[in-house]
Amino acid sequence: MRYFPGPMRELIKSLCNFPGVGEKSALRMALFILKREEGLSEQIAHAILKAKREICYCTRCGNFSEGEICEICKRDDRSSVICVVEQPQEILPVEKSGEFDGRYHVLGGALSPIDGVMPENLKIDALVSRVKEEDVKEVIIATNLNVEGEATASYLSALLKPLGVRVTRIAYGMPIGSDLEYADELTVGKAIAYRREI
Ligand code: ZN
Repeated sequence: MRYFPGPMRELIKSLCNFPGVGEKSALRMALFILKREEGLSEQIAHAILKAKREICYCTRCGNFSEGEICEICKRDDRSSVICVVEQPQEILPVEKSGEFDGRYHVLGGALSPIDGVMPENLKIDALVSRVKEEDVKEVIIATNLNVEGEATASYLSALLKPLGVRVTRIAYGMPIGSDLEYADELTVGKAIAYRREI
């Protein structure tokens, strides 16, 4: 590293901030950047800044959004079923599965008292308000199939059922302990299609 000119060392150091990128990969990326035309660097730098400045979270569901309300919440052809996920990136595999035409609610994590994540740290109150106000027919709980995700599903079920809404849980077609985000869309689609009452 010390043999490289200062700006190159700085570039490698900056790239090391990305998750899963160590010094070796950062060096490969830096060499790629230096070899390619300047336009590509400008395009990448611009895209990073634009996304950082313009992407926020939907105030209704917590999905990534360009404005106050996201594209999915704005649509009026979506059914009155809410799919509850832990993180906004988990909406993508559910959308790609083609098995779901409702709306979403992002909790912002899963219950984990050991890590200090309590119900008040998640968007649970907002979900309850939506179930009361939006004439919701069913809530599909698609939290991850691990201990925290299961605990969250049980908690939500006990909270929502007294409101008279159908509460279901995605099926165990998904590998146990897995994150929805990394599952392929066919598996996610089946997990939604074969959901069960809880
Ligand atoms: Zn939304």
